[in-house]
Amino acid sequence: MSNGMKVLVSGASFAGLSTAYWLKRLGYDVTVVETAKGLRTGGTAVNIEGRTVSVAERMGILEQIRSKRLNLERWEYKNAADVTEGSMVLRPEGALPPEDDLEVERNTLLGLLFELVKDDVEFVFDDSITALSERPENIEATFRSGARRSFALVFGCDGLRSTVRSLWFGKEAEYTHFLEQYFSITIVDKSLIRPNTAQMFNVPGKGVMLNAYKDKTDIVFCFVSEKEIPYDYRNEAEQRRIISEQFAGLGWRTAELLQEIAGSGSFYFDKLCQVKMPSWSRGRVALVGDAAYCASPAAGKGGSLALDGAAALADALQKYPGNFELAFQAYDATFRPFIEEVQAETVRFGLEGLCPRTEEAIRKRNAFESDLFERRATDDARA
Ligand SMILES: Cc1cc2nc3c(=O)[nH]c(=O)nc-3n(C[C@H](O)[C@H](O)[C@H](O)COP(=O)(O)OP(=O)(O)OC[C@H]3O[C@@H](n4cnc5c(N)ncnc54)[C@H](O)[C@@H]3O)c2cc1C
Repeated sequence: MSNGMKVLVSGASFAGLSTAYWLKRLGYDVTVVETAKGLRTGGTAVNIEGRTVSVAERMGILEQIRSKRLNLERWEYKNAADVTEGSMVLRPEGALPPEDDLEVERNTLLGLLFELVKDDVEFVFDDSITALSERPENIEATFRSGARRSFALVFGCDGLRSTVRSLWFGKEAEYTHFLEQYFSITIVDKSLIRPNTAQMFNVPGKGVMLNAYKDKTDIVFCFVSEKEIPYDYRNEAEQRRIISEQFAGLGWRTAELLQEIAGSGSFYFDKLCQVKMPSWSRGRVALVGDAAYCASPAAGKGGSLALDGAAALADALQKYPGNFELAFQAYDATFRPFIEEVQAETVRFGLEGLCPRTEEAIRKRNAFESDLFERRATDDARA
């Protein structure tokens, strides 16, 4: 039943769609504004683990996620001559992953979330908030289209480069912490390696990863750069050029993979950084997902943090009905310790896994992973 309050969500990805879902369930009339012309598809698979499993269950999408889960069986670490130097076998070929090992394509999860809300929420695509003005009783949003509308609350779920954050909380540079790495992903509609396998090739400071599933392959390039590279984040041609220049002449299958990328319309590029804010809300505006607490792709948790954050916000709003100030404080207080832990772990362990900086670190990483599996296999044999 409607509580008569209109709310605005900026961004229609994991944070925006799941925030819209919970707000609708709590009785709000929800409008979602998305700057793109439709849902922004693409990207590496999303892990659903830990607390996100119960969030997905509460949202009623756990079984669908389970039925569409991917089945990565094997990691292989390659040298320039395409010889496998180390490998980690997660399960025998053809064996199903355990019930709680949930990894789904980014587009699959996006589609499931959109299905949950598409009939109950107003979507405004190809538009963006350009100004916000708060009054005692509501907040007015001005849109790129020229429209002006009033809402009780506004939620910034518009990602790392959140417009709501820069309009309402301050410049991006105040809150983003560069992690000295860049990464790109292209998805091609063919298997470049055996399905359900991932391969990785590294030289110090550079990494190329392939992940094949369901007749598709993710091609990921990542590289270390101590200084930020100036580029326009809206200019894809410029970002493609950065990747070509960084990886030109590198060994393994790099030349072939650069050609695949050049011939593909799918391309996503970003710097790795974390967002850290002293507060995720001010007045009638709160942030959810990457906009508030991006942990970076190296965390491998961007999607699940957005789902968890939206649920934490909903729990707080439910606990303090009619008092958004207390609800926003509770959202911050309950969810922040988890975010701080994930962000710290990502810096400690995640970055080196994707893109080790030295030969020694590459050797150590490969050996550690192999040991890990051998240990597990030995334990299993003993059991
Ligand atoms: C196309 C794409 C591919 C991605 N691929 C990867 C990947 O391979 N690996 C990884 O770790 N992470 C990836 N990400 C980021 C990942 O989705 C997020 O880290 C995570 O899911 C958190 O979700 P989010 O909803 O907070 O942010 P995001 O998923 O970044 O979504 C933000 C949404 O807000 C929209 N938006 C931006 N500005 C405005 C505006 N002014 N007004 C309205 N809407 C706006 C965007 O178009 C987007 O739909 C990708 C994101 C996108 C958009």
